[in-house]
Amino acid sequence: MMLDYHSLLLALGVSAACLMVTLFGTWFSRRTDSFLLTLVVALCLTVSGIFAYSSYTLETGLLRVSAAYTFLMAGFSTIYAASVQFRTGRKPWKLSVVLTAISLLSGLPLFAAGFDGLGLIVMNIGTATMLIGTAWQYWLARREAPGPLGGMVILYALSGLSFVLCAAVLVRGRQWVLGHAPDNWAENLNIGVCIAGMTGIGSLSLALHQWRMAARHRREAMTDELTGLLNRRALFEQHGSRLLNPSTAVVVFDIDRFKSINDQHGHAMGDMVLRIFAQDLAYGTLPPNTAARLGGEEFAMILDNVLPGRAERIANEIIRRFAAREIPVGETLLRCTVSAGIAVGAAGGQPFEAVLGLADNALYEAKRAGRNRVEVAGYLRSVNVADTRTSA
Ligand code: GH3
Ligand code: MG
Ligand code: MG
Repeated sequence: MMLDYHSLLLALGVSAACLMVTLFGTWFSRRTDSFLLTLVVALCLTVSGIFAYSSYTLETGLLRVSAAYTFLMAGFSTIYAASVQFRTGRKPWKLSVVLTAISLLSGLPLFAAGFDGLGLIVMNIGTATMLIGTAWQYWLARREAPGPLGGMVILYALSGLSFVLCAAVLVRGRQWVLGHAPDNWAENLNIGVCIAGMTGIGSLSLALHQWRMAARHRREAMTDELTGLLNRRALFEQHGSRLLNPSTAVVVFDIDRFKSINDQHGHAMGDMVLRIFAQDLAYGTLPPNTAARLGGEEFAMILDNVLPGRAERIANEIIRRFAAREIPVGETLLRCTVSAGIAVGAAGGQPFEAVLGLADNALYEAKRAGRNRVEVAGYLRSVNVADTRTSA
């Protein structure tokens, strides 16, 4: 070796410490993706383990090897727990503590009994298991970000395999009792793989974090904050350039006398009414149909592959359910209604915006005809869903 093993270990420790600082900074700036924080804790433990192990390579001793073992196993357990957290969103601490406890119980007694070689074999196998397990977790999650996750799977798996080799060399030499840190070709290969692997994994973890953030921003830009429905921009992005056939219906809804709800009960109550209606609308809109908030108290629903009359029935059902709701406001119950206008595309295709405009006109007709009703563009007929008109 051109560089001695001990210097390489120090290099690994220092670069792991730098990575820890970088990950912490990234997590700290947003504090959203807590799997990064778990990785920071894992690196902190691993770095402590690396320095303890490095001191053990200089001078042997039960305390040193036990400290190295304890910190390294806790570190790798937490790395595995971070990968489970990334994939499932589960809190990582219980898993990390349980895995660490299992590792300590299976390794520390061996060192105490003088079988340091056997203890190191257990350490290598335990580490390999955790790293390959981590690779497996990221493999299961690969669809979220195939690029960075694919790279992480490969690097974690290779690092894990290099620990398998270390264990294999000790087993092959029957080195159950060593008296010092092992020094063989597998150890040298292992440290090289770890230095390369950790650097790669560090930058890929950052890339993964950016990927997640970008996806979250895309989602947020498409979502109406108040109701969780698609917003106007998302609706036009999905449907704006479509030409609609007669089998596609556009339904627009507008809550009746909403201004007076705001005036009488306050803006917060108005917001609650909007959320309640949005829930009804989402409930009545099964995929692949779309529900969106156009703005204010106006909503839209796009229904694909509907037979004539079907959109009317769906809209009526939504209006009827909403009108039947009793929303508690202080001591009393608030009832409100909504009107809807429907238009369908034309044979040969009609631009989405034109159909939306027709639906809007029909909505205006529904308002004029007394509200709490559905009006269909092109029909003279109107459908009244309430026996009693709303008080006006
Ligand atoms: P109509 O039956 O004719 O539809 O009467 P309206 O009072 O519902 O009609 P108008 O469009 O005049 O009133 C809409 C009101 O919606 C005006 C605005 O203050 C209120 N509004 C718009 N966006 C929001 C919101 O996000 N939250 C709340 N609480 N109110 C909103
Ligand atoms: Mg309005
Ligand atoms: Mg209104």
